[in-house]
Amino acid sequence: MIPIAEALKIIGRETRSLKTEAIDLENSVGRIVAEAIKADMDLPPFDRSQMDGFAVKSEDTKNAPVRLKIVGESAAGKGFDGKLKSGETVRIMTGARVPGGADAVQKVELTKESGGFVEITETTKAAQNINGLASEIKKGAKIFGQGERITEQMIAAIASFGYAKIKVFCQPRVSILSTGNEIVNVSETPQKDQIRNSNSIMLKAFAEKAGAATRVLPLVRDDLKTLEATIEKASENCDVLLISGGVSVGDYDYTKPALRNAGAEIFFEKISLKPGKPTVFAKLNDAFVFGLPGNPVSSAVTFHLLVRTAILQMQAAKNTELKKGFAVVAEKIKAAKERDSVLPVSIETDAKGRLIIESLRFNGSSNFIAFARANALVFVPQAKNLEAGDTAEIMFLP
Ligand code: AMP
Ligand code: MG
Repeated sequence: MIPIAEALKIIGRETRSLKTEAIDLENSVGRIVAEAIKADMDLPPFDRSQMDGFAVKSEDTKNAPVRLKIVGESAAGKGFDGKLKSGETVRIMTGARVPGGADAVQKVELTKESGGFVEITETTKAAQNINGLASEIKKGAKIFGQGERITEQMIAAIASFGYAKIKVFCQPRVSILSTGNEIVNVSETPQKDQIRNSNSIMLKAFAEKAGAATRVLPLVRDDLKTLEATIEKASENCDVLLISGGVSVGDYDYTKPALRNAGAEIFFEKISLKPGKPTVFAKLNDAFVFGLPGNPVSSAVTFHLLVRTAILQMQAAKNTELKKGFAVVAEKIKAAKERDSVLPVSIETDAKGRLIIESLRFNGSSNFIAFARANALVFVPQAKNLEAGDTAEIMFLP
């Protein structure tokens, strides 16, 4: 049995990043930046007015109210090319270029216009209501670096610098294979002793969130020969093969024997982790293989701790582990005697601004209905209960 940290080390040692490709920016959310994103221009590209109003020399407004002569107009997309002289002003719109000679904008609400002149009713200070040239970013500055995961919030910034296409790491191809004599497809009505396959679709969603291109394979019965042949064939067409079920020590658990028979190199097959102890990590042909416990919560936990990390490492992501933090335990959480536990929880804030860990009342690790409300995992060290009021380490679910 190896510690979780050791399992992560092995995964880090074995996985390599894939090639890169250029894709449309509009399809890039969730992918990993392969080449630094740089500003190809100053922003703003000129001194820009923040207001509708009048561009002035601030000097001229010192003794406001003052009357200035309107000598032109500066609109967004069509600025005023002349230069302001003392006693002059230019009508200006939000987003327009501030004309030469002007150093402030007075908003229209503080002006009174009549017959080609405008009264500026309050004084202005230099730079008032102006976003200066390059005040947001200078040409050539780095915006995002290699290894950053593209989020929806980043798209506008990337688009502003002309990246209609963006270089990202290729998507790991992840195939998902659920096993079990009792498992039927989601669209089917389970007969006596049967349950629906909730893992394949769940793992597919998780893997896609981590940037993978997924394929769900047909269900496989608990039969050593069939499983072996299926694994062998599947490993030829993917970068990562996820097998759900059959990893523990029951009479019909064939995942590990099948991997051995197929000649896979097994890196680990027992982790000090609850749930998830029998998780196996191996390599067959050029594919990495994860055998995850079939129990849906165990599958979810081991995916987020181990598989997600591998998928992100194959894309050279900077942050490959879940974001960590600390929160206060609301109610006692029991530790396991011989293993570290990683349990799904719900993190809420309280009136004092603290993060609070609410245990999800799941009846053992099989309660995936409670898991549906989880937004984090809590780390419970081996043999060390977390008591109400303790501060505990948490990992936010993505
Ligand atoms: P196993 O890891 O094969 O021993 O399965 C452990 C538990 O998870 C059993 O209760 C299975 O019925 C359940 N299980 C296994 N595979 C799936 C699956 N694909 N979807 C939902 N539950 C599953
Ligand atoms: Mg099974």
